Amino acid sequence: MSGSPPAEGPARRSVIELVGITRTYPGPSPVHALRPTDLTVGAGEYCTVVGPSGSGKSTLLNLLGLLDRPSEGTYLLDGVDTARLPEKLRTALRGRRIGFVFQSFHLLPYRTATDNVALAHLYDAVPRRQRRQAAREALARVGLGHRLDALPTTLSGGERQRVAIARALVHHPSLLLCDEPTGNLDSATAAQVLDLFDLLHGEGMTLLVITHDAHTAARGQRTLTIRDGVLTETRPVASAHG
Ligand code: ADP
Repeated sequence: MSGSPPAEGPARRSVIELVGITRTYPGPSPVHALRPTDLTVGAGEYCTVVGPSGSGKSTLLNLLGLLDRPSEGTYLLDGVDTARLPEKLRTALRGRRIGFVFQSFHLLPYRTATDNVALAHLYDAVPRRQRRQAAREALARVGLGHRLDALPTTLSGGERQRVAIARALVHHPSLLLCDEPTGNLDSATAAQVLDLFDLLHGEGMTLLVITHDAHTAARGQRTLTIRDGVLTETRPVASAHG
Protein backbone atom coordinates (compact mmCIF):
# COMPACT_ATOMS: atom_id res chain seq x y z
CA MET A 1 0.00 0.00 0.00
CA SER A 2 1.32 3.49 -0.79
CA GLY A 3 0.39 6.97 0.43
CA SER A 4 -0.08 8.10 4.02
CA PRO A 5 -1.57 5.66 6.52
CA PRO A 6 -5.14 6.20 7.73
CA ALA A 7 -5.55 8.51 10.74
CA GLU A 8 -5.87 5.57 13.18
CA GLY A 9 -2.67 3.97 11.82
CA PRO A 10 -2.15 1.04 9.48
CA ALA A 11 -4.36 -2.01 10.00
CA ARG A 12 -2.79 -4.68 12.18
CA ARG A 13 -1.99 -7.94 10.41
CA SER A 14 -4.18 -10.81 11.65
CA VAL A 15 -2.44 -13.90 12.95
CA ILE A 16 -5.69 -15.74 13.74
CA GLU A 17 -8.92 -15.26 11.84
CA LEU A 18 -11.79 -17.62 12.57
CA VAL A 19 -15.03 -17.18 10.64
CA GLY A 20 -18.04 -19.32 11.55
CA ILE A 21 -15.86 -22.09 13.01
CA THR A 22 -17.67 -24.97 14.70
CA ARG A 23 -16.62 -28.36 16.02
CA THR A 24 -19.14 -31.10 16.58
CA TYR A 25 -18.01 -34.51 17.76
CA PRO A 26 -20.19 -37.03 15.93
CA GLY A 27 -21.90 -39.95 17.65
CA PRO A 28 -25.35 -41.17 18.69
CA SER A 29 -25.76 -37.87 20.54
CA PRO A 30 -23.37 -35.41 18.81
CA VAL A 31 -21.51 -32.99 21.08
CA HIS A 32 -21.49 -29.36 19.90
CA ALA A 33 -18.15 -28.59 21.56
CA LEU A 34 -17.69 -25.30 19.71
CA ARG A 35 -20.66 -23.22 18.56
CA PRO A 36 -20.25 -20.88 15.55
CA THR A 37 -17.25 -18.75 16.43
CA ASP A 38 -15.67 -15.66 14.89
CA LEU A 39 -12.38 -14.43 16.28
CA THR A 40 -9.64 -12.17 15.02
CA VAL A 41 -6.33 -11.92 16.85
CA GLY A 42 -3.94 -9.32 15.48
CA ALA A 43 -0.15 -9.64 15.37
CA GLY A 44 1.33 -8.76 18.74
CA GLU A 45 -1.86 -9.27 20.73
CA TYR A 46 -1.90 -11.15 24.03
CA CYS A 47 -5.18 -13.03 24.38
CA THR A 48 -6.30 -15.32 27.14
CA VAL A 49 -9.17 -17.80 27.01
CA VAL A 50 -10.78 -18.85 30.26
CA GLY A 51 -13.56 -21.33 30.90
CA PRO A 52 -14.59 -24.15 33.19
CA SER A 53 -13.82 -27.80 32.57
CA GLY A 54 -15.72 -29.20 29.59
CA SER A 55 -16.44 -25.76 28.13
CA GLY A 56 -14.49 -26.32 24.89
CA LYS A 57 -11.00 -24.97 25.64
CA SER A 58 -9.11 -28.03 24.37
CA THR A 59 -11.34 -28.20 21.33
CA LEU A 60 -10.47 -24.58 20.51
CA LEU A 61 -6.77 -25.17 21.20
CA ASN A 62 -6.70 -28.22 18.93
CA LEU A 63 -8.33 -26.25 16.12
CA LEU A 64 -6.03 -23.24 16.54
CA GLY A 65 -2.99 -25.52 16.73
CA LEU A 66 -4.00 -27.33 13.52
CA LEU A 67 -4.22 -30.56 15.50
CA ASP A 68 -7.88 -30.97 14.51
CA ARG A 69 -10.10 -29.70 11.72
CA PRO A 70 -13.30 -27.71 12.23
CA SER A 71 -16.68 -29.16 11.30
CA GLU A 72 -17.54 -25.88 9.54
CA GLY A 73 -16.01 -22.47 8.96
CA THR A 74 -12.76 -20.87 7.91
CA TYR A 75 -9.49 -20.56 9.82
CA LEU A 76 -6.82 -18.27 8.42
CA LEU A 77 -3.46 -18.56 10.18
CA ASP A 78 -1.17 -15.71 9.14
CA GLY A 79 -3.51 -15.24 6.18
CA VAL A 80 -3.20 -18.87 5.06
CA ASP A 81 -6.54 -20.66 4.66
CA THR A 82 -5.90 -23.85 6.62
CA ALA A 83 -9.13 -25.79 6.30
CA ARG A 84 -8.57 -27.20 2.85
CA LEU A 85 -4.83 -27.78 3.14
CA PRO A 86 -3.67 -31.39 2.97
CA GLU A 87 -2.33 -32.80 6.23
CA LYS A 88 1.31 -32.57 5.15
CA LEU A 89 1.05 -28.81 4.54
CA ARG A 90 -0.88 -28.31 7.78
CA THR A 91 1.94 -30.08 9.64
CA ALA A 92 4.54 -27.87 7.94
CA LEU A 93 2.51 -24.73 8.72
CA ARG A 94 2.12 -25.82 12.35
CA GLY A 95 5.86 -26.43 12.66
CA ARG A 96 6.81 -23.06 11.21
CA ARG A 97 4.16 -20.74 12.59
CA ILE A 98 3.08 -22.11 15.97
CA GLY A 99 5.02 -22.59 19.19
CA PHE A 100 3.25 -24.81 21.74
CA VAL A 101 3.58 -24.56 25.50
CA PHE A 102 1.83 -27.20 27.60
CA GLN A 103 1.02 -27.64 31.26
CA SER A 104 3.44 -30.54 31.64
CA PHE A 105 6.64 -29.37 30.07
CA HIS A 106 7.37 -32.47 27.94
CA LEU A 107 11.15 -32.18 28.28
CA LEU A 108 13.52 -35.08 27.68
CA PRO A 109 14.87 -35.78 31.18
CA TYR A 110 18.36 -36.96 30.20
CA ARG A 111 19.12 -34.17 27.74
CA THR A 112 20.43 -30.74 28.63
CA ALA A 113 18.35 -27.58 28.30
CA THR A 114 20.24 -26.75 25.08
CA ASP A 115 19.61 -30.25 23.66
CA ASN A 116 15.91 -30.05 24.51
CA VAL A 117 15.57 -26.78 22.63
CA ALA A 118 17.89 -27.73 19.75
CA LEU A 119 16.06 -31.02 19.16
CA ALA A 120 12.89 -29.06 18.42
CA HIS A 121 14.08 -28.36 14.90
CA LEU A 122 16.02 -31.51 14.31
CA TYR A 123 13.97 -32.20 11.19
CA ASP A 124 14.27 -28.74 9.69
CA ALA A 125 17.50 -29.50 7.83
CA VAL A 126 19.27 -26.86 9.91
CA PRO A 127 22.96 -27.73 10.53
CA ARG A 128 23.70 -28.92 14.08
CA ARG A 129 25.94 -25.96 14.95
CA GLN A 130 23.25 -23.50 13.87
CA ARG A 131 20.55 -25.39 15.78
CA ARG A 132 22.61 -25.25 18.97
CA GLN A 133 23.33 -21.56 18.48
CA ALA A 134 19.60 -20.86 17.99
CA ALA A 135 18.83 -22.94 21.11
CA ARG A 136 21.32 -20.94 23.19
CA GLU A 137 19.81 -17.69 21.95
CA ALA A 138 16.27 -18.87 22.76
CA LEU A 139 17.36 -19.93 26.26
CA ALA A 140 19.02 -16.55 26.81
CA ARG A 141 15.79 -14.87 25.69
CA VAL A 142 13.85 -16.65 28.48
CA GLY A 143 16.49 -15.79 31.08
CA LEU A 144 18.25 -19.18 31.17
CA GLY A 145 21.49 -18.25 29.46
CA HIS A 146 23.32 -19.43 32.60
CA ARG A 147 21.70 -22.91 32.66
CA LEU A 148 22.43 -24.08 29.12
CA ASP A 149 23.90 -27.43 30.20
CA ALA A 150 21.48 -28.14 33.04
CA LEU A 151 19.39 -31.30 33.01
CA PRO A 152 15.65 -30.76 33.52
CA THR A 153 15.80 -32.72 36.81
CA THR A 154 18.10 -30.04 38.24
CA LEU A 155 15.80 -27.18 37.23
CA SER A 156 12.83 -25.77 39.13
CA GLY A 157 9.32 -26.10 37.68
CA GLY A 158 9.38 -22.50 36.49
CA GLU A 159 12.78 -23.00 34.85
CA ARG A 160 11.55 -26.15 33.12
CA GLN A 161 8.60 -24.26 31.74
CA ARG A 162 10.98 -21.56 30.53
CA VAL A 163 13.03 -24.23 28.69
CA ALA A 164 9.76 -25.39 27.11
CA ILE A 165 8.99 -21.79 26.13
CA ALA A 166 12.49 -21.44 24.61
CA ARG A 167 11.81 -24.62 22.63
CA ALA A 168 8.52 -23.11 21.40
CA LEU A 169 10.30 -19.88 20.38
CA VAL A 170 13.30 -21.38 18.61
CA HIS A 171 11.47 -21.51 15.25
CA HIS A 172 10.45 -17.83 15.53
CA PRO A 173 6.74 -18.72 15.39
CA SER A 174 4.00 -16.18 14.60
CA LEU A 175 1.89 -17.48 17.47
CA LEU A 176 2.67 -18.84 20.93
CA LEU A 177 -0.21 -21.16 21.85
CA CYS A 178 -0.20 -22.06 25.53
CA ASP A 179 -2.36 -24.67 27.24
CA GLU A 180 -2.58 -24.18 31.02
CA PRO A 181 1.06 -22.98 31.11
CA THR A 182 0.94 -22.26 34.84
CA GLY A 183 -1.18 -25.29 35.78
CA ASN A 184 1.73 -27.21 37.33
CA LEU A 185 3.40 -24.24 39.01
CA ASP A 186 3.07 -22.66 42.43
CA SER A 187 1.98 -19.04 42.42
CA ALA A 188 5.50 -17.54 42.76
CA THR A 189 6.86 -19.60 39.84
CA ALA A 190 3.71 -19.03 37.82
CA ALA A 191 4.31 -15.30 38.25
CA GLN A 192 7.78 -15.65 36.66
CA VAL A 193 6.29 -17.39 33.64
CA LEU A 194 3.59 -14.73 33.35
CA ASP A 195 6.29 -12.02 33.59
CA LEU A 196 8.08 -13.76 30.72
CA PHE A 197 4.88 -13.68 28.66
CA ASP A 198 4.67 -9.92 29.32
CA LEU A 199 8.25 -9.57 28.10
CA LEU A 200 7.56 -11.58 24.93
CA HIS A 201 4.39 -9.57 24.35
CA GLY A 202 6.48 -6.41 24.71
CA GLU A 203 8.78 -7.76 22.01
CA GLY A 204 5.82 -8.16 19.66
CA MET A 205 4.98 -11.86 20.08
CA THR A 206 1.35 -12.92 19.56
CA LEU A 207 0.18 -15.03 22.50
CA LEU A 208 -2.96 -17.03 23.09
CA VAL A 209 -3.09 -18.57 26.54
CA ILE A 210 -5.79 -21.06 27.49
CA THR A 211 -6.37 -21.42 31.20
CA HIS A 212 -8.98 -22.21 33.81
CA ASP A 213 -7.27 -19.76 36.15
CA ALA A 214 -8.79 -16.29 36.33
CA HIS A 215 -5.53 -14.78 37.63
CA THR A 216 -3.56 -16.07 34.62
CA ALA A 217 -6.37 -14.95 32.32
CA ALA A 218 -6.29 -11.45 33.79
CA ARG A 219 -2.72 -10.96 32.56
CA GLY A 220 -3.77 -10.91 28.91
CA GLN A 221 -4.58 -7.78 26.97
CA ARG A 222 -7.86 -9.33 25.88
CA THR A 223 -9.78 -12.06 27.66
CA LEU A 224 -12.24 -14.41 26.03
CA THR A 225 -14.54 -16.66 27.99
CA ILE A 226 -15.81 -19.96 26.69
CA ARG A 227 -18.88 -21.59 28.18
CA ASP A 228 -20.75 -24.53 26.68
CA GLY A 229 -18.86 -24.01 23.43
CA VAL A 230 -19.77 -20.33 23.13
CA LEU A 231 -16.83 -17.91 22.98
CA THR A 232 -17.39 -14.33 24.10
CA GLU A 233 -15.03 -11.47 24.73
CA THR A 234 -15.12 -10.53 28.41
CA ARG A 235 -13.34 -7.83 30.30
CA PRO A 236 -12.92 -7.79 33.25
CA VAL A 237 -12.27 -11.52 33.54
CA ALA A 238 -15.38 -13.52 34.34
CA SER A 239 -14.99 -16.11 37.07
CA ALA A 240 -14.02 -19.48 35.61
CA HIS A 241 -15.99 -21.22 38.33
CA GLY A 242 -19.66 -21.98 38.44
P1 ADP B 1 -12.25 -28.28 28.12
O1 ADP B 1 -10.90 -28.33 27.47
O2 ADP B 1 -12.73 -26.87 28.37
O3 ADP B 1 -12.32 -29.11 29.37
P2 ADP B 1 -13.13 -29.86 25.84
O4 ADP B 1 -12.86 -29.06 24.63
O5 ADP B 1 -12.19 -30.97 26.17
O6 ADP B 1 -13.33 -28.91 27.10
O7 ADP B 1 -14.58 -30.53 25.69
C1 ADP B 1 -15.74 -29.81 25.26
C2 ADP B 1 -16.90 -30.79 25.15
O8 ADP B 1 -16.64 -31.71 24.10
C3 ADP B 1 -17.11 -31.62 26.41
O9 ADP B 1 -18.50 -31.82 26.56
C4 ADP B 1 -16.41 -32.92 26.08
O10 ADP B 1 -17.00 -34.00 26.79
C5 ADP B 1 -16.64 -33.05 24.60
N1 ADP B 1 -15.57 -33.78 23.87
C6 ADP B 1 -14.25 -33.46 23.85
N2 ADP B 1 -13.58 -34.29 23.05
C7 ADP B 1 -14.49 -35.18 22.55
C8 ADP B 1 -14.42 -36.29 21.66
N3 ADP B 1 -13.27 -36.66 21.09
N4 ADP B 1 -15.58 -36.95 21.39
C9 ADP B 1 -16.75 -36.56 21.93
N5 ADP B 1 -16.88 -35.53 22.77
C10 ADP B 1 -15.77 -34.83 23.08
